[in-house]
Amino acid sequence: MNASNPPFTEEHEELRESVRGFLDRELAPHAQEWEQERWFPDEVFAKLATQGLLGLKYPVQYGGQGGDYLHEAVFVEELARIGSGGTAAGIGAHVNIATPPIWKFGSEDQKQRYLAPAIRGEKIGALGITEPGAGSDVAALRTKAEQVDGGWVVNGEKTYITNGVRAHFIVTAVKTTAEGGHHGISFLIIDRGEGVSSSKLEKLGWHASDTATIAFEDVFVPAENLLGGLHEGFALIMANFQWERLAMALGAVGAMQLAFERTAAFARERQAFDRPLSGHQAIRHKLVDLATSAHACRCVTYDALRRFVAGEEPLREVTMAKLLTQRAAFELMDDCLQIHGGAGYMREYWVERAARDARLGPIGGGSDEIMREILGRVLGL
Ligand SMILES: Cc1cc2nc3c(=O)[nH]c(=O)nc-3n(C[C@H](O)[C@H](O)[C@H](O)COP(=O)(O)OP(=O)(O)OC[C@H]3O[C@@H](n4cnc5c(N)ncnc54)[C@H](O)[C@@H]3O)c2cc1C
Repeated sequence: MNASNPPFTEEHEELRESVRGFLDRELAPHAQEWEQERWFPDEVFAKLATQGLLGLKYPVQYGGQGGDYLHEAVFVEELARIGSGGTAAGIGAHVNIATPPIWKFGSEDQKQRYLAPAIRGEKIGALGITEPGAGSDVAALRTKAEQVDGGWVVNGEKTYITNGVRAHFIVTAVKTTAEGGHHGISFLIIDRGEGVSSSKLEKLGWHASDTATIAFEDVFVPAENLLGGLHEGFALIMANFQWERLAMALGAVGAMQLAFERTAAFARERQAFDRPLSGHQAIRHKLVDLATSAHACRCVTYDALRRFVAGEEPLREVTMAKLLTQRAAFELMDDCLQIHGGAGYMREYWVERAARDARLGPIGGGSDEIMREILGRVLGL
C-alpha cells in the first residue's frame, strides 16, 4: 500500500525510506517512555534538524532543504510511525503551524531571527490562537495588544497551545482594535520572557506533548515583531488552514497504516480456539475493513494533496479529507483495540495510547462540525 503513490515520485519515496529509518531508530523506541514522562525532550528538535527535517519545504537561504510541500507531506505522514501522537504533535506544531506564517508573512529580519533558528532546531515555536472564550469562533478572541512607544503591550490568555511550555517564541493572534473581529486582529511574535507564563494541561491523549495555557501580563513586544499587516491577522490565520488540515489528514493516514500493520501481525500471532485470531472470519473481515478504510482515507488525502501542490486551492477536497480521516482514524484505533482484547486496554500496549491520541483529530485544527459548516457553504447548501 505504501508503494510509490501519486503524487509522490521515486525521489519522495527515497526520502520516505530514509525518514522512516531515522524515526524508527531514533524516536520510536522512546514512545512509551515519553508518554509516561508526559514530555519528549527538546533535543528531539535538534536531532531532526541535523537530518534537515525541520526545513524540508523552506528555502536554502534560511537553512532549509529547498524542497516543497510534497517533501513535507512525506515527513508529516511518517511522523505517525513514532507511535506517539504527542511527540508527532509537538514536532508538527513547530513545522506545520508555527513557522509557516513567518516564512509566508515575515520580514527578512524576522526570518533571520525566528525561521532560521527554528530550522536549526535551536528555537522551538508555537502558534497561539485559541483562548478560553474563543476556539472555533476565532474572531471572538480577546487577548489585546495596545500600541506604545516602540511597540506593543500584550495582555490576555491563550489555551490548549501545543508546545505551550517549551516554545521559545509564540506566534500569537491579538486584538489590535477595540472591537477586534475579522478586521481587528493582528499577529505578534512573542518571545518567552517577562510577563509570559505557561501552565501545562492534563489531557486524554498526546501525553508526550506540552499542551498549555499561556498568560500574557503586560508583555512588551517590539514593533518589529508585528507579523504581516496590521489588522490583517485573519488573512494570516486563513492562509495556513489548508496546509494544517492536510497535515492532519496525512498524520491520520500514517497512523492508520501503522495500526493496521501492527494489529494484523497481532491477529496472526494470537491464538484463540486452536487457531490464530485472523483464522476467525469475523476478525479477518474486520481487518479487511480496516485496510479498506485506511486505503480510502489515503486516496482522498492524496487527491487533496495533489490538488493543493498543483495550486488549485482545493477547499472542498482538503476539508473533506480532514473530516473523513480524523473520525475514521479514531474508529480504526478503537477496532484495533478491540482485536487486542484485554491487552488493548493495558498501558503496556501501544494501541491504548493510539486510541487516546486519535481522539483529538475530530476536535483540533477545526472540528468536524466546523468542517461540515465549511462544506455546507462550498456545496451551496
Ligand atoms: C490537544 C490540543 C492541542 C491544540 N493545539 C492548539 C495550538 O497549538 N494552537 C491553537 O491556537 N489551538 C490549539 N488547540 C485548540 C483547538 O484548535 C480548539 O480546541 C478547536 O478549534 C475547538 O475550539 P474549542 O475547544 O474552543 O471548542 P468550541 O469552539 O467551544 O466548540 C465546542 C463544540 O461545539 C462545536 N461547535 C462550535 N461552533 C459550532 C457551530 N457553528 N456549529 C456546530 N457546532 C459548533 C464544536 O465543533 C465543538 O464540538 C488545541 C486543542 C487541543 C485539544
